[in-house]
Amino acid sequence: MNRSFDIVIAGGGMVGASLAVTLLPLGLKVALIEATPLESAQQPSFDERTTALSNGSRNVLTGIGLWPGLSAHATPIRRIHVSDRGHFGFARIDAAEQQVEALGYVLPNRVLGAALWTRLQREEGFELLCPATVEEVQPGDEYARVHLRDGTELQARLVVAADGAQSAVRKALDIAASVRDYGQTAIVTIVATSRPHEHTAYERFTPTGPLAILPLEGDRCAVIWTLAPEAAQAMLDLADEPFLAALQDTFGSRLGRFTRVGRRGAYPLALTQAEARIGQRCAIIGNAAQGLHPIAGQGFNLGLRDVATLAEVIADAMSADGAAHGPDVGSERLLHRYDAWRRRDRRSIVAFTDGLVRLFADRRPLVRRARNLGLLLFDLAPPAKSALSRLSLGFAGRLPRLARGAPLQ
Ligand SMILES: Cc1cc2nc3c(=O)[nH]c(=O)nc-3n(C[C@H](O)[C@H](O)[C@H](O)COP(=O)(O)OP(=O)(O)OC[C@H]3O[C@@H](n4cnc5c(N)ncnc54)[C@H](O)[C@@H]3O)c2cc1C
Repeated sequence: MNRSFDIVIAGGGMVGASLAVTLLPLGLKVALIEATPLESAQQPSFDERTTALSNGSRNVLTGIGLWPGLSAHATPIRRIHVSDRGHFGFARIDAAEQQVEALGYVLPNRVLGAALWTRLQREEGFELLCPATVEEVQPGDEYARVHLRDGTELQARLVVAADGAQSAVRKALDIAASVRDYGQTAIVTIVATSRPHEHTAYERFTPTGPLAILPLEGDRCAVIWTLAPEAAQAMLDLADEPFLAALQDTFGSRLGRFTRVGRRGAYPLALTQAEARIGQRCAIIGNAAQGLHPIAGQGFNLGLRDVATLAEVIADAMSADGAAHGPDVGSERLLHRYDAWRRRDRRSIVAFTDGLVRLFADRRPLVRRARNLGLLLFDLAPPAKSALSRLSLGFAGRLPRLARGAPLQ
């Protein structure tokens, strides 16, 4: 193997593998390093979870040629229903009202993983190193050196850290990250319901934490139930029947009865923010840059905008540089352009997500009354709804070409 690359991507999860596929048409020499095989039960990205994709993310997946294969597995969200348990106020957002076909799509992570990796494995000459673990990165003026655990050494013009919230690359580059533990755990599972979901996604705020129920094919729903760690453990320990009864009690009967439940997984929740998103010959993307609470289903959508923006900045640099010098895809200029572009979107999504967690965790009576009134007013206020739905559709701020539905080049 030739050990010199234009780009080495550390981490082949949802975001790293998406970047690798997005870069394919540019004809660069790219290697993707992933620690855990796709088919392993330990794969931390492509696991039993489902992901709510924004319309902007659907555009990106269409632009990189994957949506036709994914759409049969993606359940459209036509309505979002937000409520505060024990209170009168609730809010609805309707796709028809917002003049879009769907407010988003729910896709199993494993389906996305299979599509991304199949595409990469089909590409002749693409280097997918798995299982392989990045241990050390040494940036230099011309190249960065990447050391793998098995002793392999690679060099690249640009190293992209897409190795998740605990990013080893970020640490190797000495880039600190702030971590705020929410003291909450998300229980994730799939349930069958006696009443059809009619493509409605529910977000229910409860005194113990938010509960999201997302529509899936075949009268099934994905459950993301956030609880204090001890309460989450108690729910994980319950047999299926009492678990379903507790879920029913928290959610109510809008979907009739919960009749069956699948395997339950648990995810401790924290807000992780890297103090810098670029370094010498290095970009940090996805959860390695920012790991969010799943309350608003924004983490992957934001990471995919990192992907589409970085790919666009690289594509633009290639066409501007011309073939004469060969493009330097890890130049300081390119990285600064990427970083400046991403700043606003990242800040607003972090603030929005974190703000929601705090607002609905606040149990003070006055705050609860104000929140309840807020939900009612929101339901009556079309401009507020449009603004929020633009955000959740993935259409807020200055978007990269792929997210707007235009080609990369
Ligand atoms: C319960 C829950 C529900 C969610 N729901 C949604 C949702 O509905 N919508 C949404 O947009 N987002 C959602 N998210 C967020 C979303 O899952 C993450 O944003 C997304 O997984 C980030 O992908 P990533 O590739 O950046 O990181 P990860 O998924 O963490 O992947 C990192 C990859 O890097 C590999 N790796 C790690 N270290 C190394 C190393 N040293 N060398 C090589 N490889 C390495 C790992 O094996 C892994 O494959 C949810 C998150 C949670 C916890």
